[in-house]
Amino acid sequence: MSENVVIILVAALLIVTVLFAAVIIYLFNKVLKEKSHSRQEQEDAPPLKKYRATQDHASYCVNHPQDHAHGMCAICQELFCEDCLKEHDGHTFCAPHFKLFISHEWEELESIKTTPTTPETAYPIYDFKKELWDDGGEPTVISTHYKINIDDDSIESYVKLLVIKDEFEELKGRYQKFKQ
Ligand SMILES: [Zn+2]
Ligand SMILES: [Zn+2]
Repeated sequence: MSENVVIILVAALLIVTVLFAAVIIYLFNKVLKEKSHSRQEQEDAPPLKKYRATQDHASYCVNHPQDHAHGMCAICQELFCEDCLKEHDGHTFCAPHFKLFISHEWEELESIKTTPTTPETAYPIYDFKKELWDDGGEPTVISTHYKINIDDDSIESYVKLLVIKDEFEELKGRYQKFKQ
């Protein structure tokens, strides 16, 4: 009788041990899988985010999220639908910046010559415009003029930065510092 009890106890102990081991192995595998899964998600995240950003925001009007963007405001560089944009002097503007543009005199602060193979020479103008806007909403307009060089048939473009005339001297100083 007591011998049977011992056998049953040993058998029960064996079963418990095997079950315990199985649970440990199962959990271990699960944790490993989750780890590799989350690593993969992290790797996928940035390009996916970028893709979504261009899909969801870049191609729709800021005022009308259901309408496709038609163009960009030359001052705030936000995207707007056809109804929101107004054209003037070859530029497009959102409503408030159209008013701002036509109610001021503008002066050329900088003009940089670029060619199709060296567009990067004009980058300082784009960077300075962005800095002025991000810093305190200082309005500027970038104007590009194309010229065909008859001597060698090459296309030259002049990227110009226009600023409000009354702010020209102050912004000229800031631009000198920016270029250094
Ligand atoms: Zn605008
Ligand atoms: Zn709109």
